[in-house]
This record gives sequence, C-alpha cells and structure tokens, in this order.
Amino acid sequence: MTDVDVDVVVAGGGAAGLMTALRASLDEDLVVAVFEKSTREGCNAAISSGSLAAGGTRFQRDAGIKDSPQQHADDILKASGDEEWRPVVEALCAVAPNLVEWIADTGYPIEIGADMPRAGMSVPRLHTDVGRVGGGRLVRHLRDLLAARPNVAFVDESPVVDLLASKSGIDGVVVEQNGAREEVTAHATVLATDGFAAHPALMAEHLPHLGEPFHGGTSTNTGDAIGWLAGVGAQLRNMGAALRSGLVVVGHGTRVSPALQFNGAVLLDTSGARFVDEEAHGYSSMAGILQRQPGERAAMVWDATAMAATAESEMMRDCLAAGAISEVESLADLAGRLGLSVATTERALTPHPGRRALQAPYHLAWVTHGVLTTQGGAVIDPTGRVLDISGAPIPRLFAAGGAACGLAGTSSDGYSSGNGLLSAFGMGWIVGNALAGVPECPTTHQRSTS
Ligand SMILES: Cc1cc2nc3c(=O)[nH]c(=O)nc-3n(C[C@H](O)[C@H](O)[C@H](O)COP(=O)(O)OP(=O)(O)OC[C@H]3O[C@@H](n4cnc5c(N)ncnc54)[C@H](O)[C@@H]3O)c2cc1C
Repeated sequence: MTDVDVDVVVAGGGAAGLMTALRASLDEDLVVAVFEKSTREGCNAAISSGSLAAGGTRFQRDAGIKDSPQQHADDILKASGDEEWRPVVEALCAVAPNLVEWIADTGYPIEIGADMPRAGMSVPRLHTDVGRVGGGRLVRHLRDLLAARPNVAFVDESPVVDLLASKSGIDGVVVEQNGAREEVTAHATVLATDGFAAHPALMAEHLPHLGEPFHGGTSTNTGDAIGWLAGVGAQLRNMGAALRSGLVVVGHGTRVSPALQFNGAVLLDTSGARFVDEEAHGYSSMAGILQRQPGERAAMVWDATAMAATAESEMMRDCLAAGAISEVESLADLAGRLGLSVATTERALTPHPGRRALQAPYHLAWVTHGVLTTQGGAVIDPTGRVLDISGAPIPRLFAAGGAACGLAGTSSDGYSSGNGLLSAFGMGWIVGNALAGVPECPTTHQRSTS
C-alpha cells in the first residue's frame, strides 16, 4: 500500500465533486484530491439539461421576475411535503443565487429560462446556458477551471472503493488505481458519487415499485457510497424516491421537453383517451402516471406553436436528431397513426377549459417512463456533515449531491425541476466554502428580486 496524505479528498468528479473542489481549493494552502471512477463513462451532470434552479438571481431581476431563496425553498417543500428536510432545503436555496452568479462570472454564458415553465415552480427560476447545449458544456467548463488550480489533483479512472474509518471518525478513502489499492488520508472526506440507479440489486431493493424503467442516467451511478455509509453507521433516508421522467420517447431514450405540456401538448392512452391534466404534473410524477397506462406508454401530440416554443431545448434537438418525433399533416393522418377514428381523435384533442386548441400539422411521439437518478442517500445536516443513526455528525465525513438524501421527499412525485443540480452544486458550494474558510455572502438569506 502506498500512503498519500491530502487535506481534502473528494470521491466523485461530477457536479458535487467539482464544486466542492473548486471552492475548497480557494484556500491555496489546502491540497485537494478528487478521485473519479471514469470520466469516459461520465457523470449525470454531463448528460443533464444543465438547468440550474435558483431564486433571487440578477438574471431574474433583469427579466423582471420577482423571486427569493425563501420562495424557492417553499415551492420545493410544497411539492415534497418533507418539512423535516426544511433546514437542508433552505440552506441550499440560500446559496443557489450566489453559485449561479459565480458560475456566470467565471465566463459561462447563463440566461434565465423564462420559456421553461415547470409544474410547481411559482415563477421561472431555471437558469440555463445561452444556446441550450446542456450539462456537458457546464461540466467541461468546471473541469477546465479546476485544471487551472495548482493545489488540486483530479485523478481519473481511479474509483474510491472504501472509507478509512477509525475510532475518531473518517480518515480518508481507499482508492483503486491500475488494479492496486492505495490509502489516501485526509482531514475531510467528501462523498460525491451520486446515486444507485445503475445498480439493479439496489434498485430492486429500494425502488421495486418502478418496475423495469428505462434508465436515462450514466452507468457510473452504482451507489458505491451506500455500502460505505452503512459500514460507518450513517443514516440513510428516502431510499424509495427517484428523479423519474414520464417524457422518455419509446424506442429512442431521448426525452421531449417538459415545457411542451405548458404549450398545449396532450397525452392520449392507447385507446385514444385523455387520462391526465397535462399541466398539473412535473415530469417525475408524470412517470408514475404513465406507468399505470396500458402498455406503460402514451401518445404525446402537439403542434407547430408548441414546437416553436420548445425547439431551442437540447432535449428537442436530441429528439429531432434521433428521429424520435413524427410529423403528421392532418387530423386524418393522426387518427391513422393512432389507430383511431377521426371523430375519436378530434374528441381527444379537445382542449381543457381555458387552454389552446392544437392546429394541424401535428407532431407525435410515444412516451414512456424512465428513471434518471435516485434521490435517497445519506442524512446530512445543512452544512453537509453526514449524521449517524443517533443524529450525531460522523467526524470529517461530508456528502453532497446524489450520495446524500435529495429534496423530493419520500416519493418520486415530490421532485421539483432543478433539485438535482441544486443538491449537488449547492452542497458542494457549502462544504467547499466551509473547508476553505470562505464566508458566505451575508446578504444571501435576505436576497430577493422583489
Ligand atoms: C438525463 C438527465 C437530465 C438531468 N437534468 C437535470 C437538470 O437539468 N437540472 C438538474 O438540477 N438536475 C438534472 N438531472 C439530475 C442531475 O444531473 C444530478 O442530480 C446531479 O448530476 C447529481 O450530481 P452528483 O455530483 O451527485 O452526481 P454526478 O454528476 O453523477 O457525478 C458523480 C460522479 O461520481 C463518480 N463516481 C461514482 N462512483 C464513484 C467511485 N466509487 N469513486 C469515484 N468516483 C465515483 C461518477 O463517475 C461521476 O463522475 C438530470 C439527470 C439526468 C440523468
């Protein structure tokens, strides 16, 4: 065994790991090591839409949108019902504007997604890259920033395989490199390895009710931290919740934009019946509704107006590139595609009261449910410290992002859009700043765009 000693060791180089390392390394006297399983296989942040939820940013202010961290937290908690988690949610929402503005100030082109309505979001608060390329661009940007830090080592193809635990707490990690094991000791250990959606046995144990969903996340999401956490007596929470999507295109695996529903798109079951108020559900809770439909699928139909309102998103571009969306000229053609009579199809497209009527030509995609990431994980306090089963912090152990309990509450239906990267970047920001001794902007908690 070779011994390496650093100040901060981070397991996982995705959203949470990158942000933790970027902030901790602001203290130039700290040596930070990030061990990453495989950038080749990738992280969820890199395949995400890269939508960053934050309430009270200058981008919202400039667009005339009134919002605040408190309003953001209240929206999340209204959706999740998880009041016990309020301190963590409020801590994350409090730092979200600071971290979004900081990312922009490092040269990343950010804009407010005023055209990205989401269920349960009282005002537009998803921030996105100008050009809507998605999370891959953001991860590349953050990795470039990290590579310029002289006090950080980013070690790829080197999975963490265990924690180094002693009577006084956590002393670092065990890493595997080129088949050999190495002990890396550190004063602080941060778990940023995400969830377990790519681990079939853990999925069967904790989320059997999802059935056999399409997995739209990365293969590195194997829940490696779950076993280590259990081994050191950490508490796990909300293991039956996930970030799901009810907008996965059958046979393609791409997702249509969640904004389609707010632009008149309708969902029909295989008999041509409407079964849901399309605007009333987020994409995660829509997954469970689709799972209950015949064939676990539905036809989504929209028109040119809805297409124009959503075409800019990377999701729609992916769908178009994959040939996942059919063009249908007329009502009769649509009826033919759906195997229905024209009268039934016309009845099915009747808008709900107060909603817009769709006009031919139409667009059609068959959608089903999928799982993107899990939401259960370590119980942490609002500063990211991992708590044991008695509620006491396990010394020198932190968790951020999908390795920690998420913000959805006990069920996938409680997931609010943007929660994933908020948990990851937000807790990475909090933990990294604390390790570097960077004070949080004192005005953050009072920040409001009103
Ligand atoms: C298709 C898709 C779209 C999404 N869109 C959005 C969105 O727009 N907005 C939003 O807020 N959220 C979104 N999410 C969720 C979001 O991507 C995740 O919640 C977030 O990336 C979690 O961050 P993380 O750092 O915990 O994990 P990740 O970003 O997945 O990073 C974890 C890293 O840990 C590494 N790792 C795993 N095990 C080990 C180990 N043993 N040793 C070392 N390294 C290890 C992995 O290789 C990976 O690089 C989306 C998710 C998916 C799948």
